[in-house]
Amino acid sequence: MPVDVSKLRIVLYPHPALRAKAKPVPAITDEVRQVAARMLELMHEAPGVGLAAPQVGLSWRLFVAGPTGDPKDDRVFVNPVLLDPGRDLEDYEEGCLSLPDITGEIRRPAKISVEATDLDGKRFRLTSDELPARIWQHETDHLDAILIIDRMPPMDRIANQKAVRELEKKKAR
Ligand code: ZN
Repeated sequence: MPVDVSKLRIVLYPHPALRAKAKPVPAITDEVRQVAARMLELMHEAPGVGLAAPQVGLSWRLFVAGPTGDPKDDRVFVNPVLLDPGRDLEDYEEGCLSLPDITGEIRRPAKISVEATDLDGKRFRLTSDELPARIWQHETDHLDAILIIDRMPPMDRIANQKAVRELEKKKAR
């Protein structure tokens, strides 16, 4: 079924799309390009520095990132794969556009590479030990149905328990 790009919105936890393992994008089509463009718009509007397709209800292995907020630094990652994680781990406070008002200190490799397909269908590879590395890992987690509430330490889990329950209640209503 074709995607109505104008209807795409950021979905909130506990939307089922956030808990489904996303499927590879078979080809770069105009539809994929339109979805990516709309996702970048939604990311900037929010505002945020990254957005994964499951966060707009699509079970696709695709995410967008804009680490500086400047559209010239926007990038689209189709069928991304993380490679060569560094041995040094770093704690960093992460939030998520699908989990409003929830943050936690998430421990991840400080340095990592990502390989993905761009909107011209070309494979590219990037390496970072700064914010982009953090975004790539957070967004790739979304493609595997993993959320920050799964990765945060027990103290943060307790601190966010109420906000998580509120989101779950809103959904049930
Ligand atoms: Zn997120």
